Amino acid sequence: MEFETLCLHADGNKKDEWGSIATPVYQSATFVHKDFNEVSKYSYSRLSNPTRAHLENTVAALEGGAAAFAFSSGMAALSCVMKLFEAPAHIIASEDLYGGSLRLFRNVNAREGMSFDFIDTGDLKKVESLIRRETKAIYVETPSNPLMQVSDIAALAGIAKKHKLLLIVDNTFLTPYFQRPLALGADIVLHSGTKYLGGHNDTLAGFAVAKTEELAEKILYYAKTIGACLAPADCFLIERGIKTLPLRMDRINENAKQIAEMLRSCKAVSKVYYTGFPDHAGYAVSTKQATGFGGMISFEVKDKPLVEKILTCVKVFQYAESLGGVESLITYPVRQTHADVPEEERNRRGINDRFLRISVGIENIKDLIEDLRQAIDK
Ligand SMILES: *Cc1c(COP(=O)(O)O)cnc(C)c1O
Repeated sequence: MEFETLCLHADGNKKDEWGSIATPVYQSATFVHKDFNEVSKYSYSRLSNPTRAHLENTVAALEGGAAAFAFSSGMAALSCVMKLFEAPAHIIASEDLYGGSLRLFRNVNAREGMSFDFIDTGDLKKVESLIRRETKAIYVETPSNPLMQVSDIAALAGIAKKHKLLLIVDNTFLTPYFQRPLALGADIVLHSGTKYLGGHNDTLAGFAVAKTEELAEKILYYAKTIGACLAPADCFLIERGIKTLPLRMDRINENAKQIAEMLRSCKAVSKVYYTGFPDHAGYAVSTKQATGFGGMISFEVKDKPLVEKILTCVKVFQYAESLGGVESLITYPVRQTHADVPEEERNRRGINDRFLRISVGIENIKDLIEDLRQAIDK
């Protein structure tokens, strides 16, 4: 089946006895055993639940993995995957990461005795030079948050294989519609399902997708033991979101291209970070490994006072954290997503107090452009 069809029919349209088209919300903590000798397939909803199983099978099919696990948030998914490692494991990670992931690595996993090198994982020589006996994994976001740096997944997979490391890719920004890391050689894919997969800014979710049965079994053990699983009603919302993922991503991709061009033409804007520009350093790799550029754009304005003006004057864009939903959002990373990153480090990397990030939604492009224009020029 093609991707768009899988979003709707990954389970081959298996039905319950009533034949409902939408997967029912099995809002039950536990399930009765058939008889003394036959335990039910679903015994207790922390271990497994029919609504969650349906969603997990869909996500596994979309990413091309052996199995997927649905968690109560993206951070819950990442926290669970990190249980695969123990001190003194060393991990090489992108330095430009979602702020929460950085906080987990630095303030939780490092305290437990693990160590990390945070670098530009687009620099393959640097990645390989940092591998040592304790190194267990390479962790990347591509494109990265919020600087839109691109890492070559297939090349990193080659390095990982050679040194027997796991390659873990956070695929939240592009989704499997545009980029399938497992097919490019990654071992585990992570998602904040809160973002594009859910797509409607109405619930939190996270996913870990394992390429092999062997890895899936390990993740399952920690998932059911830690217990941060996604509740049935939330599974329903994410599954419903996934049905329109291709339509939303196409629209978002188109809208974002035009917004990036428009921002680049503004005199008050000094820099635009968007992987769809042919002169972006990661453009060649992007077009090789992904079929779209997504809806994330960051930009820097020349004068700091303009930041407050933009955030106050936008009427269609909303000043809010998060991304990936149908509504366009604009956020100020130094105050929100990256507030925990030390200021000196932020400034060195370009995430300064003139830096904004937008998540493009599915509104009519004319309204989005007009909204930004009036906020910037007013
Ligand atoms: C939001 C986000 C996360 C964390 O997901 P939550 O659902 O908020 O816990 C991880 N990675 C990326 C790239 C994100 O955007």
